[in-house]
Amino acid sequence: MSSKSEPSFRQSVDLMFNRAVRLMDLSPGLEEKIRVCNATYTVRFGVRLRGDIKTFTGYRSVHSEHMEPVKGGIRFADTVNQDEVEALASLMTYKCALVEAPFGGSKGGLCLNPRDYDEHELELITRRFAYELIKRDLINPSQNVPAPDMGTGEREMAWIADQYARMNTTDINARACVTGKPLNAGGIAGRVEATGRGVQYALREFFREPADVAKAGLSGKLDGKRVIVQGLGNVGYHAVKFLSEEDGSIITGIIERDGALVSETGLDVEAVRQWIAQHGGVAGFPGAEYVADGAKVLENACDILIPAALEGVIHKENAANIQAPLIIEAANGPITFGADEILREKGTVIIPDLYANAGGVTVSYFEWVKNLSHIRFGRMQRRQEEARNEMLVQELENLSAAMGNQWTLTPSFKQQFLRGAGELELVRSGLDDTMRTAFQSMRDIWHNRSDVPDLRTAGYLVSIGKVASSYKAKGL
Ligand code: GLU
Repeated sequence: MSSKSEPSFRQSVDLMFNRAVRLMDLSPGLEEKIRVCNATYTVRFGVRLRGDIKTFTGYRSVHSEHMEPVKGGIRFADTVNQDEVEALASLMTYKCALVEAPFGGSKGGLCLNPRDYDEHELELITRRFAYELIKRDLINPSQNVPAPDMGTGEREMAWIADQYARMNTTDINARACVTGKPLNAGGIAGRVEATGRGVQYALREFFREPADVAKAGLSGKLDGKRVIVQGLGNVGYHAVKFLSEEDGSIITGIIERDGALVSETGLDVEAVRQWIAQHGGVAGFPGAEYVADGAKVLENACDILIPAALEGVIHKENAANIQAPLIIEAANGPITFGADEILREKGTVIIPDLYANAGGVTVSYFEWVKNLSHIRFGRMQRRQEEARNEMLVQELENLSAAMGNQWTLTPSFKQQFLRGAGELELVRSGLDDTMRTAFQSMRDIWHNRSDVPDLRTAGYLVSIGKVASSYKAKGL
């Protein structure tokens, strides 16, 4: 955690914003309008549990309504507070602008530890919180669309969607009131893995640029790169699973709540995940060194560090000790403003949160569009595409036969080529395109402006520019 002498999370995000906006020529009034959170709603509600009434505190903050609906997850954690929710809502604004998801930024939080309650209790609490937000249009398909965040997932989103449908029985677009739902409740293929997948696509795009890789003092591709991850939750787990299984990266460290695992030859991500599910933590996992003070492992030598847990984990006290030359912020705000300055000074390359973890909201956008169009992606085109591919293959094979079968199409090519894209393939393709395009928009500025030394500032410049033009178009 960041030290007491450092600014709060929201102040830290504002300082990063200020550092970037100084390089633009917006009027001070417009700067201020973009920076501030428009509104934060606090609700305290009671739920009858275990024979007594228990009061919970929840928030939904709306940072910017330059586009509506506003978008952002709902977090369940006992550390949730107004400052954090507002910081996360601002990040949502910049994230959506950067990846061109047509939303303003919002975020919600409920102050509770989900581990303290059973499933039935959590359903009661979630539905009651949703009820309070729906009543005030803070959950609504055209105004405010939540999604999962830390401590919530498909299950909670299904409860919220159902609660909204019960309260809005004639709303034909009810399902679009929340994203991250299970497939059978209006979800989309690939949403669960989306944020981790986005981290993988972001790294792949970075490693397509040898000049950028060299800036981080690295070379080559992702194959063989030593990776340390903090947090094996939904985001961290998918990111390192894909990197190790598909890109040949070696996961040399996994930091969890109860400590860390270290292995220079690489950890089996799936096996560690199962171990945590069975034992509640990483301690005792066979074949790896266990480090009780997990946060210390952030400082171990590696090629890529992926903080995928909480905010403020890299702070002024440990920033100078971080050895990784490349950090990708899978979590929101894992590096404080003070730490960011220290790391920049050291030449560490940081792929910033507003870009790195935008895969989640990108696929949420696809889910929202799917819900509004009431049709699964690919349903109309898939078989037609297959039929046309079949025609082409047939024609090529006829041609080959006419030429005495001097060449043939390999069975694996045929198999892959003949298959029309289903929803999952389309979602991945849309996500990949989004991550590549957004990276290039940041990179352009990073490389072409001498006053922009880092990707974070570049990312903010792109985002703020987009939000500013939205406001200007509205005549503000
Ligand atoms: N909670 C996720 C985030 O921080 C996803 C938000 C969404 O899908 O709307 O980006």
